[in-house]
Amino acid sequence: MKDGNFLKENNARHMWHPMAHPADSLTNPPAIITGGEGVRIRDVDGHEAVDAVGGLWNVNLGYSCAPVKAAIAAQLDALPYYSTFRGTSNDQVIELSYMLRDFYGPDGLSRAFFTSGGSDSVEICLRLARQYHKIRGEAGRTKYLSLKKGYHGTHTGGASVNGNANFRTAYEPLMPGCFHIPAPYTYRNPFNETDPEKLAQLCLNALEDEIAFQGASTIAAFIMEPVLGAGGVIPPHESFMPGVREICSRHGILLIADEVITAFGRTGSWTGSRHWGVQPDFMATAKAITNGYFPFGAAMIADHVVETFENDKSGAAAIGSGYTYSGHPVGAAAAVACLKETLRLNVKDNAAERGTELYEGLKRLAEKHDIIGDVRGGHGLMCAIELVADRASKRPIDKATGLKVQDVAYQNGTMIRVSGPNIILSPPLIISKEDIAVILDGLDAGLSAV
Ligand code: PMP
Repeated sequence: MKDGNFLKENNARHMWHPMAHPADSLTNPPAIITGGEGVRIRDVDGHEAVDAVGGLWNVNLGYSCAPVKAAIAAQLDALPYYSTFRGTSNDQVIELSYMLRDFYGPDGLSRAFFTSGGSDSVEICLRLARQYHKIRGEAGRTKYLSLKKGYHGTHTGGASVNGNANFRTAYEPLMPGCFHIPAPYTYRNPFNETDPEKLAQLCLNALEDEIAFQGASTIAAFIMEPVLGAGGVIPPHESFMPGVREICSRHGILLIADEVITAFGRTGSWTGSRHWGVQPDFMATAKAITNGYFPFGAAMIADHVVETFENDKSGAAAIGSGYTYSGHPVGAAAAVACLKETLRLNVKDNAAERGTELYEGLKRLAEKHDIIGDVRGGHGLMCAIELVADRASKRPIDKATGLKVQDVAYQNGTMIRVSGPNIILSPPLIISKEDIAVILDGLDAGLSAV
């Protein structure tokens, strides 16, 4: 490894960071992470911290998952790559598809289309939704509806259904025909409604209104995260997603669950859709499917959609989408090993228990620190606190304050992620009670510094 000074200098000079201003790495050099073990990461200066971010919501099994490393090494020896485009397949991807059929059986999803990550999975769901309607002779169904505050990745389709201006404005005009409705975000919403159930109903009414305005026969799909993640961890009332499902079904609109974060146990249930008792028509997954050990994802497809495609006699169902790395054998081997570990360790139950401890701990911190305007969580290991300069006006903190909290927390042994006014906490699902306490202490120190 190059020495620390070389790495720091050349990071600033030659590397552009995603989701950052290019000048930021000069003024605010990043922690250069060079090691990881269990739920801890280590930087180039030898400083260690509990990773309360879980990589980027993906490292559910931590950084030392021996069976996954062994599976990857074995597959690199056996076959490092072959395509799964029409005409060839590989043993690993078939085993994985078979396992995913069982895993997603309760969600009514029996078929997998493999990708290289979350944005890719979203894109495939959006595309196949339009194609589904064309096969059925409803070619006019081309529009997409989604939630403000929703995050659906970086590709143009996903960015078009994204509901956060930060990820859109610089790249507009995006795809036409995408419309957004208010999110069930109790802390800030256009209705000034603080009751989660009433707010859910108001948002469902807004969805009905938008469908009436656009015309149901022009809409292909509604896409939503079961718990909004990057938008600041916004769990809806339990009536919301079932309400969306009912409205979509009544209007012939497909429901795409973007479970890039929530699939594989993060909410305390195996999937976010199952958490709310909903079966979507498509599910975008990625992240924890390989726990960060390999870039990989899957768009899962509902049985009735599969039937529509397979029964087509016109040729309209031929898939004109695919990635070079769709069904990559090393990624598939990693995913098989991850899924076995995920099930063996039953990480969803630990996510539920530790998630409750984290959420309760954050509520205690809110009693101590006025800077905390809102505490969100209660559904597994997905929590956030929203920081405000002033509780009465809910004026968001400035950027420097968030960075200071992050810095001091890190110096105190906790890596957290600041996203706008939100501090997002999504540690590995294998985390212990003791390490939840470490996270809360580190955060407490960070909050005390501002
Ligand atoms: N959808 C959701 C809900 C996500 O959280 C993310 C990533 N954070 C994506 C899509 C995009 O995934 P990727 O970054 O792997 O392309």
